[in-house]
Amino acid sequence: MDNLKDPVQPSGPVSSKNWKIHVDRDLCIGAATCIAIAPKTFLLDSEAKAVILTTIDQEDQNTIIDAAKGCPTAAIIITDERNERVFPK
Ligand code: SF4
Repeated sequence: MDNLKDPVQPSGPVSSKNWKIHVDRDLCIGAATCIAIAPKTFLLDSEAKAVILTTIDQEDQNTIIDAAKGCPTAAIIITDERNERVFPK
């Protein structure tokens, strides 16, 4: 995959705007809800785990929050520049 925000850590944590976004690969069950909601940010890899795309910077941050809220296992973790949790609270 050549469209990963960070090829070394495909599921993050990666920085985008003022946020750090991370998919906990142990929690991710490949439900793909996040991809349906935020297709510029998430994609499934060959292990059916969500990875983070370079195009995350073009995704609306509300959309990323909605994707995190939609994840059935709360595998998407977002923190702000002060390292405070944006989601899940
Ligand atoms: S919605 Fe959650 S469980 Fe489903 S692919 Fe995305 S991160 Fe993984």
